[in-house]
Amino acid sequence: MTKTYYLTTPIYYVNGKPHIGHAYTSILCDTFARFHRLLGESVFYITGTDEHGIKVQKAALEQGKEPKAFVDAIVPEFKELWRVLGIHYDHFIRTTDDYHKTTVQKVLSDLEKKGDIYKASYKGWYCTPCESFWTELQLKDGKCPDCNRGVDQLEEENYFFKMSTYQQWLIDYIQRHPDFIQPEYRKNEVLGFLREPLEDLCITRPKTRLTWGIEYPGSKDHVVYVWFDALLNYVTGAGYLTDDKKFKSLWPADLHLVGKDILRQHAVFWPIMLKAMGVEMPKLVFAHGWWKMGGAKMSKSVGNVVDPIALVQKYGSDVLRYFLLNEVTLGLDGTYSEDLLVERYSSDLANSLGNLWHRTASMIEKYFEGKIPEGVRAHRFYNPIELWENVSKAVMAHDPREALGKIWEVISRANQFVEETKPWALAKDSSKKEELADVLFNLADSVAHVAILLQAFMPGTAGRILGRLKIDSPEKIHTDSEFSKPLVTVGVTIEKGEPLFPRLDEKTS
Ligand SMILES: [Zn+2]
Repeated sequence: MTKTYYLTTPIYYVNGKPHIGHAYTSILCDTFARFHRLLGESVFYITGTDEHGIKVQKAALEQGKEPKAFVDAIVPEFKELWRVLGIHYDHFIRTTDDYHKTTVQKVLSDLEKKGDIYKASYKGWYCTPCESFWTELQLKDGKCPDCNRGVDQLEEENYFFKMSTYQQWLIDYIQRHPDFIQPEYRKNEVLGFLREPLEDLCITRPKTRLTWGIEYPGSKDHVVYVWFDALLNYVTGAGYLTDDKKFKSLWPADLHLVGKDILRQHAVFWPIMLKAMGVEMPKLVFAHGWWKMGGAKMSKSVGNVVDPIALVQKYGSDVLRYFLLNEVTLGLDGTYSEDLLVERYSSDLANSLGNLWHRTASMIEKYFEGKIPEGVRAHRFYNPIELWENVSKAVMAHDPREALGKIWEVISRANQFVEETKPWALAKDSSKKEELADVLFNLADSVAHVAILLQAFMPGTAGRILGRLKIDSPEKIHTDSEFSKPLVTVGVTIEKGEPLFPRLDEKTS
């Protein structure tokens, strides 16, 4: 059986509405998933929601709701965002799902039996208004790092996971697998963190402080720490301990895509948990950067959060996808501004891709009654095999920006080809009819090649172009040789349709 390409987003914490950061992670994963499907691979793309913990308990209380009713109301908002963004996931996991809770408890019992979990008394500092427990190191000038108020010393019994036992193993593992954590600068950060002794992880909270969580299997008085519960979604959602056949076909995960702020949990806690469980390591943990606005990180607490649904309503989901995928190299921070998005809309989408489609379709309508003319010489201004290889290589290197750059090189080249060949002049000379046919055939075919690849990045636009060109079974093109053949069919009547990217002033009026 061939291995399914298995990729994950973090499960999103549901103490508020989804924002553009969530959209970014999911769009990236969706692009990788779609590209692997394009290559003919079987793909399993999992996403979901992280629903336990103190922040959810508090947010629910503020609205006068039970935590479960509170999360039940937010989950559809995430699903709606994925729908409007064209996110095609294969499974949506909620940490309140029964199979997840049962497996988490099973894992904890096993680890306790193995001796990887022990009970101990825990001293720390408690901020009553925040309901947050802090270690000495986390305090800022002896005060709560969240609200800057005074804290009280508190001692409580908790369960601890022996992370320290595995510290040297993890360092060795990362060094022996230099591609395990990417980008490389993030790997170095993790190794830097591992130079300090690793503390054992407190994996429970007493019910006196937190009730909204999975009950710890060995104690009626404790619930499981939300990170320990959440990380396990990557295996519970893949059938771990519930569906062996499924789990074997999916695990190890090929890609855990995460934000850089949660790298430590994914590159330190998670591998150690798996090692203790005796489960194989995922192949790659890749950390992406943040979107900033006016130099500040976008966050709920700062209040500079961009609503992705509003953007999609205004510009369309593919425009947002294109902008986020193209604006920064994956891994680095990006600066978001609506002006910048509008600039890309005009230059890259309307004037470049939109214009290429419009002029190609218009000329085929005008000179050949809308039928694809017969071209004699194929692909004289770009090489489809090279295009396929370059784009694949960039996607395999997790660089969608580079991939889009390669596609846009062909789009620019095609627009330039129009200027060079001047079809409108050829049309005036009846002895140049064949040459005109050749030019328009090649242009139409270049748009088809672009659209096939764009299925991974801008699925709506790609589908529209392929439909208008009447491309036969685009979903059956999986290899460079299938791709490099002429894709358009001579004699078929195309549809010009509405502009792919209408002028914004017309759109908003
Ligand atoms: Zn506080």
